[in-house]
Amino acid sequence: IRRLIVVLGDQLDRNGPLLSDVDPRQDAVWMAETVSDPTGGAVHQQRLVLYFAAMRHLRDELRERGVTVHYHAADDADRSATINGPADRLAADLPVLEPDTVVLMEAGDWSVEQGLCDVVTAAQVPLEWHRDRHFLASREAFQDWAKGRKSLTMEYFYRSMRKRHDVLMDGGQPSGGAWNFDKDNRAAFGSAGPGELPAHPVFEPDAITHGVIDMVHQRYGDHPGDAADFNQPVTPDQAQVALDDFIRYRLPAFGTWQDAIWVGEPLLYHARLSTSLNLHLLDPRACLERAEAALAAGDAPLNAVEGFVRQILGWREFIRGVYWLRMPDYADLNALDHQADLPSFFWDGKTDMACVADAMSALLRHGYAHHIQRLMVLGLFAQLYGVHPYAFHEWHMALYLDAADWVSLPNALGMSQFGDGGVVGTKPYCASGAYIDRMSNACAQCRYNPKEAVGETACPFTTFYWDFLDRHEEQLAGNRRLQFQYRNLQRKTDGQRAAIRAQAETLRSRMRGE
Ligand code: SF4
Repeated sequence: IRRLIVVLGDQLDRNGPLLSDVDPRQDAVWMAETVSDPTGGAVHQQRLVLYFAAMRHLRDELRERGVTVHYHAADDADRSATINGPADRLAADLPVLEPDTVVLMEAGDWSVEQGLCDVVTAAQVPLEWHRDRHFLASREAFQDWAKGRKSLTMEYFYRSMRKRHDVLMDGGQPSGGAWNFDKDNRAAFGSAGPGELPAHPVFEPDAITHGVIDMVHQRYGDHPGDAADFNQPVTPDQAQVALDDFIRYRLPAFGTWQDAIWVGEPLLYHARLSTSLNLHLLDPRACLERAEAALAAGDAPLNAVEGFVRQILGWREFIRGVYWLRMPDYADLNALDHQADLPSFFWDGKTDMACVADAMSALLRHGYAHHIQRLMVLGLFAQLYGVHPYAFHEWHMALYLDAADWVSLPNALGMSQFGDGGVVGTKPYCASGAYIDRMSNACAQCRYNPKEAVGETACPFTTFYWDFLDRHEEQLAGNRRLQFQYRNLQRKTDGQRAAIRAQAETLRSRMRGE
């Protein structure tokens, strides 16, 4: 073998640096299905289907083109090495395959990348290294941008990306005269509800995907979710269908309703393109071009297109930049010293909190919850409750189909749990049940009252909100962006604060199952 090309499960771009110039006469591709499962049997069944089905589609395509693929499937007779990750398996294969060169591309996981590089170095095989061109900003470009800055503000990075890549720009100025239309993008549905919603596309499983679904049922049938509900693109063509469908049917209303929650409707106008983007089945440039074209054609308004562009060109690139800038130490951060385990309803969805039950039912059913359910329901609860931020990240990695280490650590540990103490966001996302009441219809069908912090019908979000501010007063009261919240806390009497503390303690022991 001249070149042994290592293709990880989230590097499935057929035209990227790994696969664009494969020579079937001399090169071979190497792939291994891995089950990273630190939580022990908790990985969502559909997450396994997504990765394995998408990888097997690529494997078969390559074999049809005459390329040799050394492939380790999760249901191979000897699957112990795949459980431990790709590096162990590659280490065992290199002496047998004896390639002249190993080809690797920047990975999406710091420890996987380290492990693979260490294995190749130890085997003394020359390494051909590639930058991941799937992202518009290289790791180095982000480091240059970050150099000398006191704080990393997504908004400034995003503006620099808009200018550099000439996206939504008009003669050096942002299109429409503003960088951001967030104020137009926070509407709630009100009592009338969302009305008729556009259907999301259906991706019927083919024989390969069916085979994986059966295998997951057999081997991982006790994991959360049901493999049979799987409905995600597993090829670039399907990812293109998903993009077309979003641009045509949901982008026009995406901006306005992007923060709204409606019980029983987890998908709403959301794109749900993140699995395809994160497995490299879909190029972010195609997403940007299509959104800009829809704006130019008058098919989608600027607030919607800008909101979508902000996610792809802003947040996504920023989060990845932070990850590579701050790893490996970033994973150990726990700025608020939170130590609690996740309550059991984070795994089975069994709770009488209507908003949490709704978000968990979406997560168990689809391996998905939209960004406000993630951040302002499940993430918010975990933070107010005091869950350990790395445990929250592991939970996020296990249950969400689109989670990858590079995206989950800064989003889950950093932004959502404030574990990084202000690298990604400048303050913790703390809110009471009143926020959820404003953005959703969940409270109207809940046994709790979002306005109450103590008593039988007190909303746990509201109790824990005040308790969170109270617990962290010394550390957070000086944060300029929390002045309003702390002024309100400080208006409470000592007796009121003690009652909130007691209520929080009772709730905590109940949620620990005591
Ligand atoms: Fe959630 Fe509280 Fe509203 Fe119930 S009352 S739905 S727990 S925010």
